[in-house]
Formats: sequence, structure tokens, C-alpha cells
Amino acid sequence: MKDLVIVGAGPAGLSAAIYGMRAGIDLVVIEKLAPGGQVMTTYEVENYPGFVDPVPGWELMSFMENQARRLGAEIVSVELSSLRRDEANNCYEISIAGGEPLRARAVICATGASLQKLGVPGEAEFTGRGVSYCATCDAAFFKGRVTAVVGGGDTALEEALHLTRFASKVYLVHRRDAFRGVKLLQKRVLENGAIEPVYDSIVRSINGSGKVESISLENKKSGAKSDLPVDGVFIFVGYRSNTEYIPAEILNDYGEVMVDMRMRTSIPGLFAAGDLRNESIRQIVAAASDGATAALAAYDYLEGLARA
Ligand code: NAP
Repeated sequence: MKDLVIVGAGPAGLSAAIYGMRAGIDLVVIEKLAPGGQVMTTYEVENYPGFVDPVPGWELMSFMENQARRLGAEIVSVELSSLRRDEANNCYEISIAGGEPLRARAVICATGASLQKLGVPGEAEFTGRGVSYCATCDAAFFKGRVTAVVGGGDTALEEALHLTRFASKVYLVHRRDAFRGVKLLQKRVLENGAIEPVYDSIVRSINGSGKVESISLENKKSGAKSDLPVDGVFIFVGYRSNTEYIPAEILNDYGEVMVDMRMRTSIPGLFAAGDLRNESIRQIVAAASDGATAALAAYDYLEGLARA
């Protein structure tokens, strides 16, 4: 039996592992993919404190992973299939796809969030054939091509800017007439000659034969319909918390885990940290902070069990 299982090895999970190891907790981190989380698909990060110049997302995460490993954290590549509280033994059973279940006195859920789909005709059909959710991964395929980015938040603005390194033109299609992303990014986007904002527009379908050739738009204000010829569509319309395995009684209406200021859920020994929790500002620094808070709260919880 472990003291603590940390589910997820993004900034929240790795930070929890760093703090947990330093507190002397017997822990293991499980991660279904490679450590790093969403940041791995971020071209560069310029707002994580301590880095004067922008740092590539993968590099920042490799620093966090190496730091956790240097402190002795075990990070195992396995996929959780279910999480069950064993009331009789006051612990948790974590079932692993194709492996032996793990048992732990406490669990920190740090499984983050996943990109939301647009849900329009053509999106699924052309995914990987012109539709992408990762400019860092796929921008180079669009060298000299015309692309569209859908969304108006920080992610859409950042990824549109990154795309201009390759694409000859980037239409930034947003459903309102003002972007949601921070002012600095808005300024950069509006000053970039390769980006053309398309405001008040809803994507109705993604079209082509075999690969993306155009998107159909509807102007929200005038109702006018139009087709925009593009070779690629990058979709960044927000995130959904990865909480499918977490008891519904501790999720809010948005599917986020409800925690207190110490990242405790209302279930004893169950903590949540990072993008999957309620009121998260979905920043790397905040996820790292959550992870630290959760690990120290878990330490107090485990100490309480030991004293009982
Ligand atoms: P977001 O802030 O939730 O923005 C999602 C955008 O997509 C919004 O502009 C929204 O429009 C639009 N949208 C949502 N559903 C849509 C639909 N069905 N059709 C068309 N458009 C739709 O998501 P995000 O940009 O991915 O950012 C998520 C969080 O991560 C934010 O807190 C952000 O600050 C953070 N983040 C930070 C950084 C950074 O600090 N470097 C980088 C990336 C992300 P409306 O505006 O009309 O709602």
C-alpha cells in the first residue's frame, strides 16, 4: 500500500510529486501518456516565473519531470481505469488498464483538461487531414498555405501567432467581435500582417474531398453565409476537465472537481489539483501551485491517519 498516488504528470502532478517527495511521502505518479500534460503541445511559454526568455513547453516540462525524478519520484506509464474508495480499509483502489490495481491511503487527481471539439460536420472526418488541435505539432505541414484558427482565447491567439511562422495567411475566426485572450496577445495578433480576424462568425462546417478545402461560416449579426477557402483548420475553443473517473457527487455542473483552498475534496484523502478543479485560472504556475498545496494537505492528512 502506497501513502499517495498522484494521477497525472502535468505541472500539477509533477509539482505535487516534488513537494510530496520532499515531505517524505511514499508516493507514485501514474500517467497514461508521457509526463508533461497539455504544456507539451505549447510552442513556448513566456509567463512561467523564473525564465527571462520564453521557454519551449516540452523543455519546461522536462525540467519539472527531471526535478521530480531527482528527488526520487517514481513516474509510471499506466492508464487509470477506475478509482474506488475502500471504506472498510480507509483507502483507495486504483484500477489500472491491463495491470494490477494500486492501493493508496490518499490520492491527488491531477488529470487536467482536454481540448474541446467544435462539433461541426467535417471536423471528425478531416481530423489529421487538415483539422488539427495542436499548432506546435502540425504548423510545419502548412508552410506557405492558408489556414484558419477558430477561437478567441489565449490559446487561439498564441497558436495563430505561432502558425504565422509557416502559413502564408491565418484567418482568426471568432464568434464575437472582441477576443477573450489577454491584451498583450491581442495587440500582437492585430499587429501581425499575416493574421486576418474574422469576427462574429460561427463555423457551420468544414468541407473538402479527402482533405480540408474550405470552411462554411455564418455571420452572427447579419446572418450572411460564406465559404472561406483554407488548407487547414486549427481549433482552440476551450477545455473540458478530465474527471470521468471521479465520483459525480464532488463535481460541479461543469464537470470540475470541487475543492477547498487546500485542494481537499469532501471525500477523505481525495485531493484535486490543476486545470480539472473548480475556479482554476488554467495557468501553468497555478497548476504547479495547486500541486504543492495538495501535496502538503495530503501530508497533513496522512499524518492524521498515522496519529489516529
Ligand atoms: P478559453 O479562454 O475558454 O477560450 C475559448 C474561446 O473559444 C473563447 O474565445 C470562446 O468564445 C471560444 N469558443 C468556445 N466555444 C466555442 C464554440 N463552440 N464555437 C466557437 N468558439 C467557441 O480557452 P483557451 O483559450 O483554451 O484558454 C483556456 C485557459 O488557459 C484560459 O484560462 C487561458 O488564460 C489559459 N491559457 C493561458 C495561456 C498563457 O498564459 N500563456 C495560454 C493558453 C491558455 P467566447 O469568448 O465568445 O466565449
